Amino acid sequence: MASQEKIRINDNTKLLFDRAADFLKLSEEGRNLLKTPYRELTVQMPIRMDNGELKVFTGYRIQHNGSRGPYKGGIRFHPSVDIDEVRALAALMTWKTAIINIPFGGAKGGVTCDPKKLSIGELEKVSKSYMSKIDLVIGPYRDIPAPDMNTNAQVMAWMMSEYGKKHGHTLAIVTGKPVALGGSLGREEATGRGCVYIVKEACNDYGVDIKSSISVIQGFGNVGSNVARFMAEEGSRVVAVSDVQGGIYNPEGLDITALLKYRDENGSIAGFPNTTKVTNEELIELPCDILIPAALEGVIHADNAKNIKAKIVIEAANAPVSITADEILKSKNIPVIPDIIANAGGVVVSYFEWVQNLQQFTWDLDEINFKLKKRIVKGYRDVFDYSKKNNLSLRTAAFAVAIERVIEVVKLRGWG
Ligand code: GLU
Repeated sequence: MASQEKIRINDNTKLLFDRAADFLKLSEEGRNLLKTPYRELTVQMPIRMDNGELKVFTGYRIQHNGSRGPYKGGIRFHPSVDIDEVRALAALMTWKTAIINIPFGGAKGGVTCDPKKLSIGELEKVSKSYMSKIDLVIGPYRDIPAPDMNTNAQVMAWMMSEYGKKHGHTLAIVTGKPVALGGSLGREEATGRGCVYIVKEACNDYGVDIKSSISVIQGFGNVGSNVARFMAEEGSRVVAVSDVQGGIYNPEGLDITALLKYRDENGSIAGFPNTTKVTNEELIELPCDILIPAALEGVIHADNAKNIKAKIVIEAANAPVSITADEILKSKNIPVIPDIIANAGGVVVSYFEWVQNLQQFTWDLDEINFKLKKRIVKGYRDVFDYSKKNNLSLRTAAFAVAIERVIEVVKLRGWG
């Protein structure tokens, strides 16, 4: 994505904040405090590559607001990562943790790199180098990283291991770890599972029968593939999914279990039998009831929003709908369930992982899923009720609920 587009994403986040702040009549002081991050760290990461060449990568950790608890948020590895993107995503984490009411602030990290071009050994070096450079500003009661785009349980295992070298074995330093190494049951699929709990609520609210619904999902990474799996389990007919290389479409519906197996065997969904190829752009405009963007930001924009045929859009990705697209969808009466509630399932189970690590006691999967559902559905209902009561879009309501909760503790702490 062009860097101009990314700058707009950070500006968009501020604009969305301002809309809610205007509604709340938030003071200038409050706005200034909540629009600037608490701390921004940029680090240099020299890595000796497999071919002997020294490559210098750049990493970031940005802590937006920690009034409600330790900073919390993922780390992404992607070529388009830059400070503006990480800033926007860090702020979104502050709002996300407040809406679902878990005792964390918001942070985000990233390394500008293309993990697809790194060998497994290089990926390990990048992960450990990043941790060794940011370890001074994090800690189990200070800032707890987690996976995000292109990072996973293995990356968290490397990071935890690196942190332990200097600080001693510390399970609660990152979440989203492998279960064998202190990770929580249910964490890996938590974002997808949480998202589908919200889809069910939204379907009830907006008169869509999930069992006879048609859904389209953009992205087939951790979030997209789990959303597809759980949507199919709920009886929805998933007709199209995509990955970075493009999408596949069958109006009769895709067999998601077979597709997951095919993806694992072939490394991609491309060429899955009985499907036609669609581009990621075409996929967004396909006829369906439920459209779930679960990949990059900004994929629904001014040019394609008018062609969207879905009855509901659920933001499983962070910031997939641009601000102009949001307006267009509003004028078409298509509700958008915002990212800061729709994809909060991951951080909810990260919270459970952190609690289990600190207590040195593990919970079973049923308990985790039960607690996830309770928390995320409550967050959604708080936002939905607020939007109805105050005649606001779900997005402005979500920001307003979050800002109210954060500003309350900022005041209690004496603003500093
Ligand atoms: N990266 C995920 C998010 O954006 C999860 C963060 C976490 O678990 O801390 O919500």
